[in-house]
Amino acid sequence: MGNEDNRRRKTPCGFCMSVFKWIPVLFITSVICWSYYAYVVELCIRNVENRVAMSFMLLFYHIALVLLLWSYWRTIMTSVGRVPDQWRIPDEEVTRLFRADNPETQKRILNNFARNLPVTNRTMNGSVRFCEKCKIIKPDRSHHCSVCSCCVLKMDHHCPWVNNCVNFYNYKFFVLFLGYALIYCLYVALTTLHDFVQFWKGQLNGGVGRFHILFLFFIAIMFAISLVSLFGYHIYLVLVNRTTLEAFRAPIFRVGGPDKNGYNLGRFANFCEVFGDDWQYWFLPIFTSRGDGLTYPTSTDQNGDIPAQRYDTMGQTTTSSFGDGISYPIRHLEEEDTESLLGYHSDTRIEMEEDFLPEPRFPDQIP
Ligand SMILES: [Zn+2]
Ligand SMILES: [Zn+2]
Repeated sequence: MGNEDNRRRKTPCGFCMSVFKWIPVLFITSVICWSYYAYVVELCIRNVENRVAMSFMLLFYHIALVLLLWSYWRTIMTSVGRVPDQWRIPDEEVTRLFRADNPETQKRILNNFARNLPVTNRTMNGSVRFCEKCKIIKPDRSHHCSVCSCCVLKMDHHCPWVNNCVNFYNYKFFVLFLGYALIYCLYVALTTLHDFVQFWKGQLNGGVGRFHILFLFFIAIMFAISLVSLFGYHIYLVLVNRTTLEAFRAPIFRVGGPDKNGYNLGRFANFCEVFGDDWQYWFLPIFTSRGDGLTYPTSTDQNGDIPAQRYDTMGQTTTSSFGDGISYPIRHLEEEDTESLLGYHSDTRIEMEEDFLPEPRFPDQIP
């Protein structure tokens, strides 16, 4: 399988890079370890005199910590999965594809190969999406990640803080991780607030330990502020059934063309698609997402024969027969991309080769 092959090919430089990529995870883990020492030892054991209060503080602290570490661990360790073999294009077809002298022939080869595959997404040219590196037809909502060197199902973004792609298999864990990290930070900040005030009044005893409590409060507030916006944004994305990448650029459908709400089935159904149908598992980092990661229910019927609109023909088309009448000219999408990328741009390494059909090549250039 192309996915596996790409990941196995590691040079010494590639090995150093893969070690380097663990640094952000190491940083987060170190902060959590230090916060454990500061909270449990310096605050609870050395500073809280009331035993009952201390027990309750430690109990709730450990519940939040276990849920945080559990969801963080699952986000990091969950594999990006693999695209099944039937999506892989045989070598002779790939050769034919690269030798084809015009885009229409290439488009026909791809469409013909994918005729029995459940794909509804298309490129700007109206062709079935193809990954040149993995040599596969891309399943709906999947993208090639250059960091992971493979096509990732329902790719959200590549996150350096978990050294993994946030994707179909770990999106629930990632959202829970953000939520529990926020709860952890708010809990630590609230329970250290009293000691923080005492410190500035000069009434906090405990030598160097006082500074651990002081920094613990600052760090908790700092992380809580950044987590509020990130967690809030991902809750919004869950409720509208959109990945971070789809929020930047609308997926293009075979029927109806580009549509940001193409997977929006209503808030509750969208929530259940990620968190599952059984409420008892909603808040635990146990995989309960609906589906197989390859196909997704759409808000519009994709079995009709109306071809998708192309981005470059939007301006000349009457919009009345498509969806809600909103047109999607290229300029509009580009503006949205640049505006909404903001903090996500740095950790989104997606290759956009899908928008273009492969350039015709000589036999010795074919990958
Ligand atoms: Zn790929
Ligand atoms: Zn990745």
